[in-house]
Amino acid sequence: MSTLKAIKGNIVSPNQVCFDHFLLYKDGKVVSIEETVASDIEVFDASGKYVLPGAVDAHVHCYSALTEGFEAATRSAAGGGVTTIVEMPYDADKLICNEKVFTDKIQLLEKESVVDVALLATIAPENGLDQIPILSEAGACGFKISLFNTHPVRFPKIEEGVLAEAFQLTKAARRPISVHAETDSIVRKNIEKYKDQGFNNPIAHCLSRPKLAESTAALTILEMAFQLDAKAHLHHTTFPHVFELVEHYKSLGADVTAETCTHYLVFSEEDMDRLGALGKINPPLRSEQDRLGLWELLSEGEIDIVTSDHAPWPIEAKQHENIFDNSSGAPGVEVLLPILYSEGVAKGRISLNRLVQLVSENPASRFGLGHRKGKLVPGYDADFVVLDPKEESVVRAENMHSNAGWSPYEGMKLQGQIQYTFLRGQVIFDGEKVNGKKGYGEYIPAVFGGENSNATTM
Ligand SMILES: [Zn+2]
Repeated sequence: MSTLKAIKGNIVSPNQVCFDHFLLYKDGKVVSIEETVASDIEVFDASGKYVLPGAVDAHVHCYSALTEGFEAATRSAAGGGVTTIVEMPYDADKLICNEKVFTDKIQLLEKESVVDVALLATIAPENGLDQIPILSEAGACGFKISLFNTHPVRFPKIEEGVLAEAFQLTKAARRPISVHAETDSIVRKNIEKYKDQGFNNPIAHCLSRPKLAESTAALTILEMAFQLDAKAHLHHTTFPHVFELVEHYKSLGADVTAETCTHYLVFSEEDMDRLGALGKINPPLRSEQDRLGLWELLSEGEIDIVTSDHAPWPIEAKQHENIFDNSSGAPGVEVLLPILYSEGVAKGRISLNRLVQLVSENPASRFGLGHRKGKLVPGYDADFVVLDPKEESVVRAENMHSNAGWSPYEGMKLQGQIQYTFLRGQVIFDGEKVNGKKGYGEYIPAVFGGENSNATTM
């Protein structure tokens, strides 16, 4: 028999902050938020600190580098206040595109994970569509596809004709198709051109993947979602114009959403010389004006979700002289919430409630986890983070829990510090150590109703 417990602090509930209140929880679920509690209840004192819903990072790669895996990535998540990850289907050795590999991955995460995990599936480039209903039945939270051929086996492009058919099936399954939007032929032509010219310093990466490549691909997806009345989500959107396109399609009634990532809010292409290959990310960092434009959209509520796109390559994958020979992506799950708090809330650009929408509520709702994740309300999982707004910290890769061992944010000063992470009522991070056990993390099958989830806040 488990007992009723409480945490005292400034509780961030969906529409307000309840200062000096008690969040009561039992059996891993939130019971209520109260002003006072009976004297016999065990109280965890977080007075003066914020108690936020655990973050839901809707873009994490655990197996694109086999040196990471569920254990390291989810320990890193716990250290950053992320209590649920949405895991990507592009593993180094296989695509997660059929029932066998999907259920194997569920079994693996149930053995290895420290935080809860939802799984995206993908489709094989040929003859893969019949798996969509089966994988949906198995709880897949969506289907990730790419319009860019990152790798013919590990991360292939899906042709538009196949994609249009896929949308019909994902519509029936009520799942979103979530997209890496870059037009393959534009990027490929540029890379060939620069390689021929011997132009291969860091900025060449950004120039080889112009905004046009991203916006044309995004438009294809938005138009398909609109015409076929199906759900679509754009991952890692890098500049304001694409969010304006998304807003336009929303105004037409399309069920479309888009995310940006921490790195596009912190860095611009001006940082490429300093960062070198550590700043090589797809799509690339954009102009300083675009970066500031994203903050404006965030404050106006015109960005749905912020993710980390955690891609924990070992440092060896980032040490090639020629920028084009390096892997793309950077580890980030552990700094998503701290950076968005520090750069967003502490600097007065976004409210605390907006922060929670961006990293908890909206990602949970978009990926079919909104029935138990993303907010602190009765009946929901008791996943929460204690954040001290007065403490400062400095990003140090050596203190982080990913196996990558490096961070593009190294040395960045942050206002606010995560002091505890609770998952289903249990402490899994105490400010220094991740003490959540591997295997405590659960698989969260996605549940979708018939709602159009872009309706109001999204
Ligand atoms: Zn990614």
